[in-house]
Amino acid sequence: MKLPRSIQQLITQFERLPGVGPKSAQRLTFYLLHVPESEIQKFADSLVAMKKNTKVCSRCHNVGEEDPCEICSDSTRDKSLLCIVEQPLDVLAIERSGKYDGLYHVLHGAISPLNNIGPDQLFLHDIVKRVHNIDEVILATNPTMEGEATAMYIQQLLAEGHPDVAITRIGHGLPIGADIEYADGITIARAMEGRRKM
Ligand SMILES: [Zn+2]
Repeated sequence: MKLPRSIQQLITQFERLPGVGPKSAQRLTFYLLHVPESEIQKFADSLVAMKKNTKVCSRCHNVGEEDPCEICSDSTRDKSLLCIVEQPLDVLAIERSGKYDGLYHVLHGAISPLNNIGPDQLFLHDIVKRVHNIDEVILATNPTMEGEATAMYIQQLLAEGHPDVAITRIGHGLPIGADIEYADGITIARAMEGRRKM
């Protein structure tokens, strides 16, 4: 016996999500089969609205509801500091720490040869241009192999383009292999205060 086509289609869609294997995809699909239709409609509407109502900021590449985003258009932020992170969730985590009031640059990933992610797949093309008029660049990529490789790559890129800019790396207090997005505010605040020159 074959599964109905529409069920199989939904399973396939779930399987494309990160961290969802075939078993979880089946479980989620059959769970949704028993959810009332009104709830399903809300779920589907949120998916579409999420895509339709969010924008990637043309300056920092963070996601928001406006372009430029809330942080880029905030005149009270310190425009001499640029913090480079992997994901929009890292911006949120660092904002939560309350220890940073500069600008951001969101890469949307990290260099990972194993997953075929090179510099061209990240928002790196405009980074040298953005560092114009910046005093300090804080590399806040994750303390993982990919995050370290990305930090090193950016450091070299900026050393050529802007030999005078101070480049620092956060890390103090963040466990090796940790994700910044899951770190608590105090840990991030310490990591920010303990950033070191690269
Ligand atoms: Zn922005």
